[in-house]
Amino acid sequence: MKPDLFSRRNFLKRTSFATLGAAASTGFRFPQPAEARQLAALGGAAVRRKPFSSWPPVSPELEKSLIEAFRSRRWGRSLQGPMVGEGLVCEFERRFARLLGVRYCLATGSCTQALHTALHAVGVGPGDEVLVPPCTFIATVQAILLCGALPVFVDVDLETFQMDPAKIEPLITPETRAIEPVHIAGLPCDIERIVAIAEKHRLAVVEDAAQAHLALFRDKPCGTFGQIGCFSFQNSKQIACGEGGALVTNDAQLAERSYVFHNLGLSPRQQSVGLGTKYRMHELEAALLLPQLETLTAEIQRRHDNAAYLAKRLSEIPGIIPQRLYPGTTRGAYYLFGFRYLRENFGGVAREKFLRALRAEGIPFTTMYFDQLNKQPFLTAVLSSPGFQKVFSADRLRRYHERNQCPNNDLLAEQGVWLPQYVLLGEKQDIDDIADAIAKISENKDHLSKL
Ligand SMILES: *Cc1c(COP(=O)(O)O)cnc(C)c1O
Repeated sequence: MKPDLFSRRNFLKRTSFATLGAAASTGFRFPQPAEARQLAALGGAAVRRKPFSSWPPVSPELEKSLIEAFRSRRWGRSLQGPMVGEGLVCEFERRFARLLGVRYCLATGSCTQALHTALHAVGVGPGDEVLVPPCTFIATVQAILLCGALPVFVDVDLETFQMDPAKIEPLITPETRAIEPVHIAGLPCDIERIVAIAEKHRLAVVEDAAQAHLALFRDKPCGTFGQIGCFSFQNSKQIACGEGGALVTNDAQLAERSYVFHNLGLSPRQQSVGLGTKYRMHELEAALLLPQLETLTAEIQRRHDNAAYLAKRLSEIPGIIPQRLYPGTTRGAYYLFGFRYLRENFGGVAREKFLRALRAEGIPFTTMYFDQLNKQPFLTAVLSSPGFQKVFSADRLRRYHERNQCPNNDLLAEQGVWLPQYVLLGEKQDIDDIADAIAKISENKDHLSKL
């Protein structure tokens, strides 16, 4: 009996990245020409019937490293300071710093923790304002709120999806303390211009480079332009250990302040010197990360090259506009491959129908980072909490809501689509499958409204 896995209804139910490929890999049948041209969502054959690369990678090297760390019985980090002393976490800090060409690295339990630590270290506190883009992961914004500060959203550039430097200066007030730019999708934002504006106004820059491991702008790694840069090693990121993060800096004082805050306010000499929480990375996480540093550069380059080819193919399809790179971008890290879907080129059909068709063709995607963070309920909830009401006057919060408009981002939230990083780790055929699937949908645009 033919398994039911590949039936349309069953297939459409499989929405997650992980299960899609597995479903498509069974039930293979050589497509007939007419069937191949028809949308899979309308009963035709899917363009992609195999899984893409699986993520995170499970290699014998990783397994060996993890087991060795486990058997050592030493599961907590050295407490002599960042990069000082024995153990895998310190070894990881030294090697990550060397890879990025910076003086200090401090590993943390997540990038959210690194961002909170970094904002605290540069002096962000209750009553302050921090400038941030709305097209990012919620952690970027939560880190500001955790400091008791107000996230002020800078609208994005519609072509690059990044914080638009031209929109920063009108938002600066006497309360502004820092800018927290994000290299969204792992592509460099206009970081040199942002740093220049920050210097002019004496603001700190904390880069959210959670998605931008080894992305380069004018040959310099993202995360090394501002005072502190923060990285994520969460499971979906380009190096992964489940949860995990790090911050990097060239400033000895900021490295020490960060270390103290991340270690319960204790200095490397074990004196209690200030406010602190417990945000330490453990040795088993570093055991998973260290072997991945060996392959990171080659993998980032591979994603960059595959992304360049995909962008070229997609730009030939009317109404599909890939995320644009700023001039000066040496290399993108491509945590995501983003593009805009312009419905006017698809007979006015809403993005959701296009996505339904794309899913049925076997291509994984997400729209998660187009969440309009400036408009989400969590923000209102936090700002109306007693603590925030005490720090911020009613008048200031009212003015905040008026300033907090990001029309470009609103449009992007309607148009944007992301492909996950692991699809870019494959062969040219994988990339062709993605482009062929989207081209097929474009050719069938007159049928999309039936979905
Ligand atoms: C993943 C991510 C974070 C948070 O990283 P965690 O390690 O999961 O805490 C922050 N910012 C951006 C842009 C991210 O993609």
